[in-house]
Amino acid sequence: MSDDPNDRQKEFGFATRAIHAGARPEPITGARNTPIYQTTSYVFEDTDHAADLFNLSRFGFIYSRLTNPTVSVLEERVAALEDGRAAVAAASGHAAQFLTFFTLLEPGDEFLASRNLYGGSITQFGLSFKRLGWTCHFVDPKDPENFRKALTPRCKGIFIETLANPGGIVVDVEKVAAIAKDAQIPLIVDNTMASPYLHNPIEWGADIVIHSTTKYLSGHGTSMGGVVVESGKFDWFKAGKFPTMTEPDPAYHGLTFYETFGDFGFTTKARAVALRDFGPAMAPMNAFFTITGIETLPLRMERHVANARAVAAFLEGHPNVAWVSYAGLASSPYHDLAKKYLPKGPGGVFTFGVKGGFEAGRKVVEAVELFSYLANIGDTRSLILHPASTTHRQLSDEQRLSAGAGPDVIRLSIGLETVEDLIEDLDRALLRSNR
Ligand SMILES: *Cc1c(COP(=O)(O)O)cnc(C)c1O
Repeated sequence: MSDDPNDRQKEFGFATRAIHAGARPEPITGARNTPIYQTTSYVFEDTDHAADLFNLSRFGFIYSRLTNPTVSVLEERVAALEDGRAAVAAASGHAAQFLTFFTLLEPGDEFLASRNLYGGSITQFGLSFKRLGWTCHFVDPKDPENFRKALTPRCKGIFIETLANPGGIVVDVEKVAAIAKDAQIPLIVDNTMASPYLHNPIEWGADIVIHSTTKYLSGHGTSMGGVVVESGKFDWFKAGKFPTMTEPDPAYHGLTFYETFGDFGFTTKARAVALRDFGPAMAPMNAFFTITGIETLPLRMERHVANARAVAAFLEGHPNVAWVSYAGLASSPYHDLAKKYLPKGPGGVFTFGVKGGFEAGRKVVEAVELFSYLANIGDTRSLILHPASTTHRQLSDEQRLSAGAGPDVIRLSIGLETVEDLIEDLDRALLRSNR
């Protein structure tokens, strides 16, 4: 058995991988924590070494837009937590989504996405991607067969959030994966809301997993970031419809990414072409904060879930609350799917409806004192938001309703505080909203 814990990753439990995967003591000084390699560039040994690096025939560091040692530790760590083969980090979750689709699609191509997504993703897919010649068809994920019905000959992928933002909805990921498999296209899962501690999409058949590390992975509201993980199991040759993966790339002397890099060909191409040419690289400082955050991910997620369960149960019994949508409640239509796919709990983000609609909702977000009224999730602090007037504002009324962001909807991201204090804060704000 090797002395390097990284060679034994598969044997280790989740909490061990969260602390050790990808990191080794720094060889010169022995520094135990991962240093912040705040450098743009790396000295070549000689001209052959430089040529090999540029030809991708040897691994190493050239320039921090492509690779950076601190960012590499984060990439290895998230890949290990998701049971993936490899990962590439990006400046934000949205940048990770862009790298993914740029690597998959050509102009004129199409893909399917659940209509229950983070509001920014609906805008990115529906409007900005459209201008690049990529068409997204939005699908109601309640019945997974809807994805099969929506497939078109130029569909090159299916994108879902198993646990959907703004909240309470769980998609039957195993069934959607089977549909993607039949169509020989990759299933891409945005696992931001669950985090790899609560859910591993690859275990259920996903081919690519995306995170906005801005949320639970960094975990403290400090650092933007995103990451793309590949399972290594998708057969790009067999599918026969991904020339970007299987045909010679003129930018690298005719190198074919799938043939050369095999089960990590997708993330290699995302890095060597999309990240290189568009440049949304993660900053080493942000990678450091995110690595540090991940070390306590299991502990934090346990508390996020426990607090969310208590707050959701309290709200469900509150006279000024019309409904609560949290898959952890027995009343939720997604309770059984949540038990299957998120056995440790369905996260810390959920929505509820306040009696009195838009006006009452506005009053609640203004009346809270301990909750912060802002647009983020996955912080140590508890956060509150009125999606209709903020994150989902750019959408049409119909899109808002179908995304679960109607006028009376309030979204909570439950933090790690003493839960009695959170309940008291909401109780006071709700009683005031009624006056
Ligand atoms: C925040 C978020 C994103 C976008 O990530 P950024 O880091 O803000 O770019 C994507 N998907 C989900 C589910 C999110 O919560």
